[in-house]
Amino acid sequence: MRPAQPAYVPTAETRQCLSQLGAAEASFAPLPDKFHGAGCSTVNTVQLSALYGDDQRTLGIGNLGPVACPVANSFAGWARYGVDRAARSILGSPLARIETFGSYNCRNVAGTARRSAHSTANAIDVSGFVLADGRRISVKQGWSSGSRAEREFLRIVHTSACKRFGTVLGPEYNEAHKDHFHLEGGSRPFCR
Ligand SMILES: [Zn+2]
Repeated sequence: MRPAQPAYVPTAETRQCLSQLGAAEASFAPLPDKFHGAGCSTVNTVQLSALYGDDQRTLGIGNLGPVACPVANSFAGWARYGVDRAARSILGSPLARIETFGSYNCRNVAGTARRSAHSTANAIDVSGFVLADGRRISVKQGWSSGSRAEREFLRIVHTSACKRFGTVLGPEYNEAHKDHFHLEGGSRPFCR
């Protein structure tokens, strides 16, 4: 017989965050804490599989790994009240899916010796949006070369992300962010 695995017991703070995420009707699974060394860890993280939009619609999420629970909550609120609503009002179609370049990644901020928020799964890189009518709006193409409505949509959802996340970086920030929005948790407001 193999010894039983120790049960994963989340902290009270994480339990509260998980119940908030459940109330937002996100589909997710809590992940066990892992310490990867070199300043990298996934603590209090979840695997999000789907989010909830308006009108009982499910929103898909592409390519997302472990995300710190508070960031997952910000993401769920942004998807539903920021992105889905902007898609309906500006582009005339509900949102179907948010595409990402991922979340956890044990690395430094490009060009520095400082660990990125991705090293603790406290950031998500959003690369594009797929609408229910099949249109796909990528940050890379749409930010400067999209239709007038697509450019407006991307700017609106960038601005609304700034209300829910600590640090938000987009194509105007630097060359490294020309193809995605970096959405990072925390209390330090920084929106570019
Ligand atoms: Zn990033």
